[in-house]
Amino acid sequence: MFDNFKIFDKYITVSLLFAIGRSQIQGIIVDMSLNVSRKKTRQIMVGNVPVGNLAPISVQSMTNTPTADVSATVSQIERLQNAGCEIIRLAVPDSEAAQAISLIKPKISIPLIADIHFDFRLAIAAAQAGADALRINPGNIGGAAKVKAVVDCAKDTGISIRIGVNAGSLEKDILKKYNGVTARAMVDSALRNIELLKSLDFHQIKVSLKASDVARTVEAYRLLSARTDLPLHVGVTEAGSLYSGIVKSALGIGTLLAEGIGDTIRVSLTRDPVEEVRVGYEILKALGIRQRGPEIISCPTCGRCNIELFGIVEQVEEALLSTVSPIKIAIMGCVVNGPGEAREADIGIAGGDGTGILFRKGKVVKKFPQEKLVEVLMAEVEKYERNRSKLAD
Ligand code: SF4
Repeated sequence: MFDNFKIFDKYITVSLLFAIGRSQIQGIIVDMSLNVSRKKTRQIMVGNVPVGNLAPISVQSMTNTPTADVSATVSQIERLQNAGCEIIRLAVPDSEAAQAISLIKPKISIPLIADIHFDFRLAIAAAQAGADALRINPGNIGGAAKVKAVVDCAKDTGISIRIGVNAGSLEKDILKKYNGVTARAMVDSALRNIELLKSLDFHQIKVSLKASDVARTVEAYRLLSARTDLPLHVGVTEAGSLYSGIVKSALGIGTLLAEGIGDTIRVSLTRDPVEEVRVGYEILKALGIRQRGPEIISCPTCGRCNIELFGIVEQVEEALLSTVSPIKIAIMGCVVNGPGEAREADIGIAGGDGTGILFRKGKVVKKFPQEKLVEVLMAEVEKYERNRSKLAD
């Protein structure tokens, strides 16, 4: 999955430190324990998921299968659901894709957003096929009359709309006014379209302002957040390949979340969308905003490590993908210092010289043959989850 987990982990940490530092400079209430003070926005519904008004920040993704291929799309959505995806968006480039929504919807259990560009009739077809929400880019949907037709349909079907402003497709007059794409131009486009929808007495709106440039994206969201109480969908678009995408998303989304801006997020990566969901939760976990699933602590390795730690960490990550308990797991390279270095972990394993050890809260529990490291750890995680659900009962 990840080519190099260590680098991934380091990028997230560095990026978020930057984000926190920036927030403190601006005097916003974010302290070193990462207590984020969220801006209160209006609440809308995307299917059964509330967005805004301090509802948990939901994690979204987007399928990359042809939407008209129902079985491939459903199977990808199932994998995304297992990874914790809470809202899924599908591209609707043609009427086959719009019709496929009626076949996909009954087979999935998270809300579905239809993503529409250019053709307002596809938005109407997608809504009528059962989409829980629409994402339209008003800059390319073809003018106020067509937006009104989409809004009328959203009212009839009782669904919400995301105004998805994209730096690459701003209205021509706005581009002329601002002499090109700027954060203010993006905000102008968003405000114009918010006013248009509100003038049609439509209020189930959330807004996104995406650019591939992190600084511009952050500036645009800051400006818009000061001008509206509508919930915001936050992301950096076309963020890129794994490493650059993670860095840009952690910086952009992390900076905004640390300032209390953002009600739902989508990490954008040129990868399997399951990775977007994983990174989304890592950002939320690192900021202390939401906990879902294990937090893995692994040592950087040094000359004492004589096991293949990178591969073991990847195996454990894969095996834990659908685990929801917020358990802290340490995976350390040696039995000499590992448990001591991971005192904060709920459970952990360390390897070296043919022996593996299992430890809890830094205390050694038992030794076993090193090749059973992952097996022993997974059995311990299952035990931990069973005990936890007994306590919850
Ligand atoms: S846990 Fe062991 S292998 Fe890992 S960095 Fe510490 S001393 Fe080195």
